Amino acid sequence: MCGIFAISGIADNAGEQVLRGLKKLEYRGYDSWGIALKNESDSSVSITKEVGKISDVNQKFEPSFEAFGHSRWATHGGVTQANAHPHKFGKVTLVHNGIFENYAEEKKLFVEKFLSETDSEVIAAILNKNLEELLKTREISRDLVFDAIATTVEKIEGRFSILVFIDGIEGIFAARRGSPLILGRGKTETFIASDIPAFLKYTNVVNYLDDDEMVWIHKGEALYENIKSREIIEKRDIEVAWKEEQAEKGDFPHFMIKEIFEQKETIARAINHSDEDLLKAANLLKDCNGAYFISCGTAHKVAKTAEYFFARISGRKVNVVEASEMPDFERFINEKTAVIAISQSGETADVMEILERSKKKNAKILALTNVESSSMARLADVHLSINAGPEKAVASTKAATSQMALAFLLAYADAEIRGISSINVGREILRSTAATINDNLNPRYEEHIREIA
Ligand code: GLU
Repeated sequence: MCGIFAISGIADNAGEQVLRGLKKLEYRGYDSWGIALKNESDSSVSITKEVGKISDVNQKFEPSFEAFGHSRWATHGGVTQANAHPHKFGKVTLVHNGIFENYAEEKKLFVEKFLSETDSEVIAAILNKNLEELLKTREISRDLVFDAIATTVEKIEGRFSILVFIDGIEGIFAARRGSPLILGRGKTETFIASDIPAFLKYTNVVNYLDDDEMVWIHKGEALYENIKSREIIEKRDIEVAWKEEQAEKGDFPHFMIKEIFEQKETIARAINHSDEDLLKAANLLKDCNGAYFISCGTAHKVAKTAEYFFARISGRKVNVVEASEMPDFERFINEKTAVIAISQSGETADVMEILERSKKKNAKILALTNVESSSMARLADVHLSINAGPEKAVASTKAATSQMALAFLLAYADAEIRGISSINVGREILRSTAATINDNLNPRYEEHIREIA
């Protein structure tokens, strides 16, 4: 889960701004970092990379309006400066998030010397080879680079998101499969990041890059193509409701404690859906022949709780399966099944894969996520947002309790449809739960929790 961040179009200090953006992604964890920038004077590429923490780095960079950076979580090769990204191979400068499963076989086909032990450098090498091949008969162009990227990623088994500079052509190229990449759209500048907080300072207008898509950005321009069909794609601009301050620690010593305290408001926000929307979601379960909650990690714990809620509140037996275990149960998914995904980001790859396969079988899909415009929200028949604002701590707190509150209310919506209870009863219980942890109403609560802790 490393960080990726690119800027094109910022007036001459892109290097410093990329460094700042990478600091915003530090919460994801990493062991080393690096930045590549196009020098404004001669369009050459300079690379800086280091092992260790980025938080104390205050480096100045050469003037540039185009740069990208990466914080690495090593999977192939130790934590060394040589293994840190970006990697330069011939005309290609590349950062990579993910795993190139079959890199070793591909690496054997090269006689050139590799400078790192990473799987990522092999992507740079293949891309460089494909470029050189195409350049024998054609001039360099955006189209030629798209051709080279498409044939390169065809070779990759595994997940990737990549950012690339190519010598001799302006702009930044990016492609993804399985790992998230989001574009931030300014008027004269464009950003690409693995997560929105990296560019919230500049814009809250985003485009999502989907699997097997690639993009070229330069200043305010972004051109998308599908890697497989090679068709040009038009993207819809989506405004996200998050503000930069929400993604800051404020006076709290760390994000987790900030997010724990935010639960005073987030539980109330999670249940702020109209009866109509809740009933629409619960209706997917109405005549279904089997309901499956699919999730991973903490969200799976939430789903296990939801199993009790549905049993007690609406008398419905739901199945709760961790995404990784789902292959054993997928034969039971058909057009009469309701599949309910719980995911903070709405991007969890294992869950997303199940949803895609379930959709092909015409199952009904409900997604509970924190990101309004996430891949899952877009794929689902019905999406309900948990409205918790950005969650940065790796250990989930406010997102988990918000998911729980919403699942609880959903069980009441199901009970309302079944004529057993009503949404209002559930809402009242959750309102008083939120009030219990609100220190204005209940000043002893915080003290009590501290004692227990
Ligand atoms: N597999 C790559 C490496 O080990 C990328 C890891 C990451 O996603 O940070 O360098």
